[in-house]
Amino acid sequence: MPTEPALSIVIPLCNEEATLSSLFEQIAATVETNALGSFEVIFVDDGSTDGSWKKIEALKQAHPEQVVALRFRRNHGKAAALSAGIEQARGDIIFTMDADLQDEPAEIPSFLAKLDEGYDCVSGWKQLRKDPLGKTLPSRFFNAATRATSGVKIHDFNCGFKAYRAEAIHSVELYGELHRYIPVLLAAEGFTTAEIPVEHHRRTHGVSKYGWKRLFKGGLDLITVVVITRYLKRPGHFFGGFGMISGMLGFLILASLTIEKLIFGHSIGQRPLLQLGILLVILGVQLISTGLIGELINFNSKSQSQKTPRITETL
Ligand code: UDP
Ligand code: MG
Repeated sequence: MPTEPALSIVIPLCNEEATLSSLFEQIAATVETNALGSFEVIFVDDGSTDGSWKKIEALKQAHPEQVVALRFRRNHGKAAALSAGIEQARGDIIFTMDADLQDEPAEIPSFLAKLDEGYDCVSGWKQLRKDPLGKTLPSRFFNAATRATSGVKIHDFNCGFKAYRAEAIHSVELYGELHRYIPVLLAAEGFTTAEIPVEHHRRTHGVSKYGWKRLFKGGLDLITVVVITRYLKRPGHFFGGFGMISGMLGFLILASLTIEKLIFGHSIGQRPLLQLGILLVILGVQLISTGLIGELINFNSKSQSQKTPRITETL
């Protein structure tokens, strides 16, 4: 078993054959120039259909100690690829970086310097983003929505270039589009994130895998993130909150109709308000019951959410 490297660099990729060798060389040169010690580059081929895997095989042959090569039979998405790579990473510090050379490997030392200040995660901030407007505008909206709902105040959640202490990143599970919200998931565990401005190069090879579909899925995942970070332990409060509001409104409507009938003798008859009132009360009962079922399942399971929070230090 080889000794554990100090740094792991996880690179998810799908059809990026043109940049892989150069990316590896730039990383190796940066590590050497700055005497950063031992390192491993974990390539995760997320179902490429071009020559990416061949390139990775060649790199593995040339640098057996430094290259770890993982491959999915088909495309599972960036979050799954990151997750598989992070699981294998043995370094105390784990980087993630895109494969398309839009990130600048020479900036690795700046991330390490910021981590040294005591943060658990350092996230790149593409201040001068080299992407088309159709992509930067939705991204601004996303970042603002994520900041507002999560309370984590960074500018650029989705930057692929990040560095973590191993303990922090090994504590989160990634799937779907959740990689966009890692700092939020980390914050829920009590880990801190700092941001440093990074260079962002134009994509010169291959094509972006970004699209409207991904944007849409990412939006849905924001709801997931808010629910799992704020309500994982108390699902009843999430559903029950809506249920209480709906039930109360329905009750008030029905009560006012009854009072009108009793005091002023107005007929209730087929009034739309009656139907609305009944609907809201039923909805309220349903939502509160859903929340209760959630709480019961949660209580009876040995799931993550039910565990006593992990103690990180004792004296
Ligand atoms: N990627 C991946 N699986 C996917 C989509 C993307 O592994 O299903 C990789 C891609 O090869 C690149 C990184 O994720 O290394 C960022 O993707 P991309 O450059 O397409 O995103 P953009 O920079 O345009 O937001
Ligand atoms: Mg890119």
